[in-house]
Formats: sequence, C-alpha cells, structure tokens
Amino acid sequence: MKLRALSFSVVGLVASSFALVAIGQEPPAKARKVTKTDAEWRKQLTPQQYAVPRQADTEPAGTGKYVHNKAKGIYECICCGTSLFSSRTEFESGTGWPSFYAPYNQANIDTATDYKLGYARTEVMCNTCGAHLGHVFNDGPAPTGLRFCMNSAALNFVKDEPAPTAKDKAAKDKAAKKETPSKDAPPAATPK
Ligand SMILES: [Zn+2]
Repeated sequence: MKLRALSFSVVGLVASSFALVAIGQEPPAKARKVTKTDAEWRKQLTPQQYAVPRQADTEPAGTGKYVHNKAKGIYECICCGTSLFSSRTEFESGTGWPSFYAPYNQANIDTATDYKLGYARTEVMCNTCGAHLGHVFNDGPAPTGLRFCMNSAALNFVKDEPAPTAKDKAAKDKAAKKETPSKDAPPAATPK
C-alpha cells in the first residue's frame, strides 16, 4: 500500500514537471502579414537591428539614436515599415529609452506577457511582422497612464514633411496641368 502511494506520487511529480516544461515553452508564433526567413532578416538589418527586433534583445539604456530625438514625425518598424509611434505622444521618461504614452494605432501593435526577468512584463511587438519593440508599463503620464518603453534599434524615424506653402502648391498645380494631355491630340490609331 505504501509502495503504491509512492508510485502515484512519482507519477504525479513526473506529470507536473512535464506541465512545467509545457508552460516554459514558447507559444506558437502568431501568423503575421510580413514573414521572412532568419537569413532574409539578417541580410536586411544591421546586427543590432537584428538582435533587438528579431531576437528580443534590449539596447543598453541611453545608447539608442532616438532617446533624445526632438523632431516631429513618425516612428516606423525597422523591419517592415509599419507606423508604430508618433512624436506627438513621445515624452522624456528619463529611462534612456524612447518613451511614448500611446501607440500610433492600437491595431499596429501586439502584446504578450514576458517572464524573462522572473516577473511579468508586457512585451510590445509590431503586429505586422512580430518584431520585438520593447515593453509597456503602467507608470506613464496622462492621458493614458502608459509608458511604452521602446528600443531605438527597432524603429526608423521618418521626419514630418513641412506643410506646403501657397507658392509650392501653385507650382505643383502648374506642373500637373502640363502633364495632362491636350484634348486636341489625335486619337490613338486603332488596328482594323
Ligand atoms: Zn514590423
């Protein structure tokens, strides 16, 4: 009887360790609109641009090229060009990473729970290609209270075009008129 109880507990132990292994496994990757092989990503990106978005690495604090970027524009995914953040929601967090209180469009990002540091954090990814961008925390400023803590290496900043002046517009209209074919032009010959 004692032996039987022991064998049951061994079975229980084995079963629970299998369960732990299963929990520790990465969930199956989500289907993304943009997918490339590892070799293709390596070819397209610099070693750091590959390590951060494709291998969920984190650039050292204060080293990213956009930490103190004050220009107006849009931050796109370095991998696939999806618009991820706008300078309009950027703020100085003092963390050493570019920080935003909201994404450019909620539908353009995806999140997952990450236990890499031994506690739960919310990982932020590009929804189009699955690129790891950084994490989101609940200690951000109003109006959302969120802090999207991003890696510069996962982003490509595209500066806003200055608004066209009236003179630019007139020149553009003139150019467009020139390109329009004249009504007097003979019709194209049709084969009989
Ligand atoms: Zn992407």
